[in-house]
Amino acid sequence: MAVFVYAENINGVYKKAAFEAVSYAKAIAAKTGDSVTAISINPTDSSDLLYKYGADKVVNVKDAGLKNFSAKAYAEAVNQIADGNIIVFSHTTDASSVAPMLAIQKNYSLITNVIDVPESTSPFQVKRKAFSGKGFMHAKADAAGVIVTVSQNAFGVKENAASGSEEVKELSIANEDTKVVNHEQSSGKLDLKEAEIVVSAGRGLKGPENWGMIEDLANVLGAATACSKPVSDIGWRPHTEHVGQTGKAISPNLYIAVGISGAIQHLAGVNSSKTIVVINNDAEAPFFKSADYGVVGDAFQIIPALTEKIKALKA
Ligand SMILES: Cc1cc2nc3c(=O)[nH]c(=O)nc-3n(C[C@H](O)[C@H](O)[C@H](O)COP(=O)(O)OP(=O)(O)OC[C@H]3O[C@@H](n4cnc5c(N)ncnc54)[C@H](O)[C@@H]3O)c2cc1C
Repeated sequence: MAVFVYAENINGVYKKAAFEAVSYAKAIAAKTGDSVTAISINPTDSSDLLYKYGADKVVNVKDAGLKNFSAKAYAEAVNQIADGNIIVFSHTTDASSVAPMLAIQKNYSLITNVIDVPESTSPFQVKRKAFSGKGFMHAKADAAGVIVTVSQNAFGVKENAASGSEEVKELSIANEDTKVVNHEQSSGKLDLKEAEIVVSAGRGLKGPENWGMIEDLANVLGAATACSKPVSDIGWRPHTEHVGQTGKAISPNLYIAVGISGAIQHLAGVNSSKTIVVINNDAEAPFFKSADYGVVGDAFQIIPALTEKIKALKA
């Protein structure tokens, strides 16, 4: 029997989330004594990238009809291949809709946002995030099969090379439910959910004309940029950058929050970050309670100085 894992790609290129999902599937397989089979839809990247993290087999689905994403059609593709009792996804935006569809198609239990290897695999029991990351719970699958989504950056990418084999599977799945009317691309160079470092700013920046210093800092750090909800609501930044309860939930290694008060709805999307740095001129700003490091001061002085210091360090 194999542990199956969905390896997500974007325009054919594997996401870091795919490597983390394969690493996690390998950790389960080490417990159950199974092999790992990765499934990917229309990848252009080499399967070698997945063998590196422990995939014993990679099934590459070729289906021109799946060029445009549809949760139902993608779930159907995975359903046709994954005939094991454990199926792993990364908790990405796409997988958040594919995994529940697949759970219904297979009549499996679904446990989302898991953050550790299972405590037991029979019955399947695992620790997961609860209450928007403010708590944890131990969830037990009560169906014979289980689908898990792994919270991004919770387990990490772990090399565990396998001498894998590849199978190409031609499918032809009806994908008539989705018509792409507009494809909004994030303006940043990096995918926000994949980024190791995120520089985020809020209303404290006063206006969109002041984001140059945020982008400069992000560039020297190799970071993605994010923002609070009001900032995207009033059009200072694109909605793709909005993080929080109603925006993207992210968990980078380093989250730098500039001129953001730290409302509970904002924290809901960022409180899983490994290290949080808060820069705010109000020492009473609630964000400082969640910060690992805090700087009380004017962002307009601190950010350019910080950028220059980092540039000098790098030089
Ligand atoms: C149902 C619901 C869902 C929501 N979802 C989200 C969500 O997903 N994400 C989200 O972000 N919000 C969300 N909100 C809004 C949230 O409640 C806050 O209103 C919002 O996060 C505040 O944004 P902000 O911190 O940028 O602005 P503000 O609260 O106005 O804070 C600005 C901060 O900048 C600081 N500042 C000002 N000048 C400077 C300076 N020169 N240097 C340094 N600091 C400075 C101030 O001290 C202040 O702390 C939601 C609200 C509701 C009701």
